[in-house]
Amino acid sequence: MDDLLQPLTEGNRRALSRAITLIESTRRDHRARAVDLLSQLPDRQALRIGLSGTPGVGKSTFIEAFGTMLTEQGLRVAVLAVDPSSARSGGSILGDKTRMEHLSRNPMAFIRPSPSNTELGGVARRTRETVRLCEAAGYDVVLIETVGVGQSETLVAEMSDLFVLLLAPAGGDELQGVKRGIMEMADLILVNKADGDLLGTARRTVADYAGALRLLRKRLQDPEGFPKALPVSAVEEIGLDTAWAEMTTLADWRRDHGHFDANRAAQARHWFMAELRAGLLARLDWPDARARLADLGDAVARGDAAPGQAAADMLDYLRSTQVTKPD
Ligand code: GDP
Repeated sequence: MDDLLQPLTEGNRRALSRAITLIESTRRDHRARAVDLLSQLPDRQALRIGLSGTPGVGKSTFIEAFGTMLTEQGLRVAVLAVDPSSARSGGSILGDKTRMEHLSRNPMAFIRPSPSNTELGGVARRTRETVRLCEAAGYDVVLIETVGVGQSETLVAEMSDLFVLLLAPAGGDELQGVKRGIMEMADLILVNKADGDLLGTARRTVADYAGALRLLRKRLQDPEGFPKALPVSAVEEIGLDTAWAEMTTLADWRRDHGHFDANRAAQARHWFMAELRAGLLARLDWPDARARLADLGDAVARGDAAPGQAAADMLDYLRSTQVTKPD
């Protein structure tokens, strides 16, 4: 049994942090230990909530207020991030503890920034495993934050039970700016900053999105009325309890009808394939394969081999060799 397992399952935050560091490591011995640890985790379930929104929409303010509200109800809350910019620059704008000052000091909460210096696919894979660690550590709700940029939303949706889109109050024109694909992933659209001078605009924005959601094909497995659009104010802490009630209603309904588990099973299958694809691609990066690829690439460039034939030769080579990965 791994040394980290017992303190982790007892909810020890240091053990959780260390286990996450282990999972984020690319060292071969660390990876082996991480895979082993993951296979020993008890089967506990949290509600996994994906939360997306563009920078400035109020994600950190919302998570601070919403997360605090949940802890006041006796729930333990973990906040994770999938940050495309950390993959590129090594610096993370999400999951930064200084953005959620109160929650980061709350003993019922755990905040972990996005792993840096890893490509986005790698960040997503490690975050998915971190979700499992948080569940094993007894967290009831895992919030996975991401920014509304390209692929990251899809990756987060693929590891969440519910997907929430946070939007700012805006005129009708800007509604067009939200891509249809993202709208289709959302279970709940929360229009933030529904307070003060922005209240009227926020209400109109909610109505616009409610209308747009009605035009999208309803997910057959969901109850009437979903996906929904609601106004919230993270600063004034208005509408947060309603948002939570809607989330639990939908999650309970899906649980009762078998869709919750079916969705997780489909996600597990998806991540299995993603891990496998990543592993196969990584194999091409080993020194023996790289040398072989370079030779075959040169032969193709010279016209001595057809691309399809060279690819087939490479696959034959991979099938026939047994090389141990060098560190
Ligand atoms: P993030 O980049 O999505 O994490 O956004 P932040 O949480 O940092 O918020 C961006 C700005 O919007 C900050 O100046 C917040 O004070 C402000 N803000 C966030 N939530 C609200 C809200 O509910 N109402 C108003 N009026 N401002 C808000």
